Amino acid sequence: MRTTSKKTVSLEEESSIMEALQELPIYLISDQPTVCPECGLRTLVIGDFFHTNSKSAIHQCEEDRYIFIEQVDEEFE
Ligand SMILES: [Zn+2]
Repeated sequence: MRTTSKKTVSLEEESSIMEALQELPIYLISDQPTVCPECGLRTLVIGDFFHTNSKSAIHQCEEDRYIFIEQVDEEFE
């Protein structure tokens, strides 16, 4: 079996990630830069899934450690 070093997320991996993510609050973000919904300060992207079908990213607030999902508002382009 050939192994590749390509860093892509398989569909299986993606769905298990998205399953875990369903526990987190989702925010539709159309403003940049993304800020924490709790305190309004800048956040850190800890997971980037914009290249997948989910079109989302996981953010964590640097201030209060609040974790949430940023999802792109499809109608805002
Ligand atoms: Zn915060």
